Amino acid sequence: MNPETKTCKKCQNDFTVTPEDFVFYEKMHMPAPTFCYECRSRRRMMWRNERSLYKRKCQAPGHSEDLITIYAPEKYVVVYDQKYWWSDEWDPTDYGQEYDFNRPFFEQFKELFSQVPQLALSNSNAVNSDYCNVADQSKNCYMALGTYKIENLSYVNRAYESKDSVDVYVSFGNELCYECVSCSDSYHLLYSRDSVGCRDSYFLYDCKNCSDCVGCTNLRNAKYCIFNEQYTKEEYEQKKKELGLDSQAGLKKVREQFEELYTKSIHEFARIAKSVDSTGDNIIDTKNSHWCFDLFGGMEDSKYSHWGGLQAKDLYDAGPGVGDGGELMYDVTDTGIQSADIAFTNVVYGSHDVRYSVFCHGSKHLFGCIGVRSQEYCILNKKYSKEEYEELIPKIKQHMMDMPYVDKKGRVYTYGEFFPEETAPMAFNESIAIDYFPLSKKEAEAYGYPWREGEKTAPQITIKNEYIPDTIEGVDDSITKEVLECAHKGACEDNCSVGFRIIPQELEFYRRLKIPLPTMCFSCRHVSRLKHKKPLRLWKRKCQCAGEHSDNGKYQNTTQHQHEGHCPNEFETSYAPDREEIVYCEQCYNAEVV
Ligand SMILES: [Zn+2]
Ligand SMILES: [Zn+2]
Ligand SMILES: [Zn+2]
Ligand SMILES: [Zn+2]
Repeated sequence: MNPETKTCKKCQNDFTVTPEDFVFYEKMHMPAPTFCYECRSRRRMMWRNERSLYKRKCQAPGHSEDLITIYAPEKYVVVYDQKYWWSDEWDPTDYGQEYDFNRPFFEQFKELFSQVPQLALSNSNAVNSDYCNVADQSKNCYMALGTYKIENLSYVNRAYESKDSVDVYVSFGNELCYECVSCSDSYHLLYSRDSVGCRDSYFLYDCKNCSDCVGCTNLRNAKYCIFNEQYTKEEYEQKKKELGLDSQAGLKKVREQFEELYTKSIHEFARIAKSVDSTGDNIIDTKNSHWCFDLFGGMEDSKYSHWGGLQAKDLYDAGPGVGDGGELMYDVTDTGIQSADIAFTNVVYGSHDVRYSVFCHGSKHLFGCIGVRSQEYCILNKKYSKEEYEELIPKIKQHMMDMPYVDKKGRVYTYGEFFPEETAPMAFNESIAIDYFPLSKKEAEAYGYPWREGEKTAPQITIKNEYIPDTIEGVDDSITKEVLECAHKGACEDNCSVGFRIIPQELEFYRRLKIPLPTMCFSCRHVSRLKHKKPLRLWKRKCQCAGEHSDNGKYQNTTQHQHEGHCPNEFETSYAPDREEIVYCEQCYNAEVV
């Protein structure tokens, strides 16, 4: 079989389907996609709202308490609180609908979605962690979003097996960390990025097994270094004190110097560890997988997948939040935990043979279901016998081909396509699609993605930004009653909440680690971390090692490399061609960083 070039139905760009891709689609009994990788990712991510939270009333029978939820007040969705939704007080199959062969499937699904009660926040197996979303197995957490097996975390996004940390993004196996992006297996690490196995350090980039360092890049097994200079223990302690890392003023200076060092450092084309024949970024222990990102180990024969792993095999277009014993899954988000043969789902755990379903658990043979738990043979939440189900499914698939859904722009969605964007319960800018595949309002609307105008509320600020204390010393418990003003004051594009609060758990953490109070709201802090995350895509590029120095002359090589003159190596990297970082191939990078 030959590779096939197709034109994306959404953006009109060409994309390639390789012979291996066809083998996968065949295994899933699916036609090849008609949207490109980027448009497929946006479409899927539109079902995942992690951070746009609203206040609504609980609609469970006899309830009327305020809830925090991912559904904006005007959305026609019935919302239940966590406890009631997970209880046996109601039965999702009571909402079952007969399949109507006179209407497109996606239209029927959308209608069902407006009737079946939804979880206010997508949260499961939570202990004292009510304000967490797309989280599973959290304990004592607050605003933990897109997380798995975590404890005592607040204001975090994408954390796995981490504890006692605040403001971390893409975190594997960390403890006592603050303001870190893509760090793993570290302890007491602050303001750092892309570092592994480090402790008691501040402002590290691409460091491994370092301790007691400040403002360093590209170091291995280092101790007592400041801005990549070696000091004795006594000198280090003295210098560190002078830097004033416990004050916002001190941090600002160190941050500036660190960012300067960052641009002069070299950057490996991809962070891939203990992997075989794999491409992507920030992946570990991965086999024969391509275009995969942020995997915490154990992914095999997969492609276009993000944030997951743990004995997952044969996954395409999966994530974020996939794996842990998942096999044969296509175009899914937040799906896995011993699941197999799944396509077009959002939040499906421990299930088999599921198509076009959301928030379903421990079930088998589902098609077009919502909120179903421990059931089998259901279509649009209606239960059937095995025989009836097996007779109906091929007819429905055929019906989806014969009477496809046609969106407002005339695009056609048949069986084998994810839910059309306009049927998603989120607007583009409420979903994480805007984090990973950003578009301006104008661009989004041109493509036909719904956009939501946020209401501008003016919170009652009790502490103006310029009066936020410079250090944590002397800040008393009453701070948790105040509303602090964000440095952006709502003037940014980062969905600024203008005012923000400090929670007691957070205050205790700042005191313990001598961290000054934040000066930005959670949304602005999150966006500032996002800027340090490379995109979930790859570009073909050339090594920027010119022989004795980097192409831009900012980095001087320290050793002789294997090549004569300019390095001829090419690679696939998530550093876009217009980025300022100096990107080296594996050999050149390994020659320099030892
Ligand atoms: Zn496209
Ligand atoms: Zn803000
Ligand atoms: Zn090279
Ligand atoms: Zn070189």
